[in-house]
Amino acid sequence: MCLPQIKMMKALYLEDSLLKECDSVVVSIKDGKYVVLDQTIFYPKGGGQPCDTGKITKANEVYTVVYVGKFSGEISHEVDHTGLKEGDRVHCLLNWERRYKLMRSHTAAHVFASLLCTGAGVLVTGNQLEEDKIRFDFSLEKFDRGTLEEYIEKANELFKKDIPVKWYELPRDEALKIPGLIKMAEAFPPNIPSLRVVEIVGVDKQADGGTHVRNLKEVGQIKLLKTENKGKSNRRVYFTLS
Ligand SMILES: [Zn+2]
Repeated sequence: MCLPQIKMMKALYLEDSLLKECDSVVVSIKDGKYVVLDQTIFYPKGGGQPCDTGKITKANEVYTVVYVGKFSGEISHEVDHTGLKEGDRVHCLLNWERRYKLMRSHTAAHVFASLLCTGAGVLVTGNQLEEDKIRFDFSLEKFDRGTLEEYIEKANELFKKDIPVKWYELPRDEALKIPGLIKMAEAFPPNIPSLRVVEIVGVDKQADGGTHVRNLKEVGQIKLLKTENKGKSNRRVYFTLS
């Protein structure tokens, strides 16, 4: 899902999702533990993707980043203890293992959603990544595990192929002309002048502010974990990277 542009802080992960570390300056601190930086590689929780974790270091002092969220357009890093001050020069380091797994899951989720949308004409109503699984909610009356296994199989075929994934900004009007760009049953705020588009070449285009791998081959394979009925036509499915 799209995230509004950030006013003063540079969200480096939007352009380069492969950055694992960066130098930053502390812009402000709230209650000693909520840190705003001039630029960051830390993804804030949102759009179905969990936040990054990692470390912020100042000289030899290490602050563990336990949560990252976005509040009033600013990315706030919650650290485990106080001590950082406005103007401090710090070094940021991501928990890359966690982030890369989320990037693989997130990219897998695009492919699965795209196959479901085009193949079964379903509307995806919810999508939440967790560290070890991916949850999908969608609307479909006729539903059985075998059909879903077929979609998982189709997705796995695509993950064997050398298919690039790219992302870029498009003016809002132009972006909204792309069919199926917004698969989630959720409207974009009308005040965003441009949308970030994530394109899996030949497979899917989606308006999206999350982090993804550069090629479908990086995803690996996925497997179905469980399926649930949540009412007459609301379905829930969990799958995971295998
Ligand atoms: Zn995405």
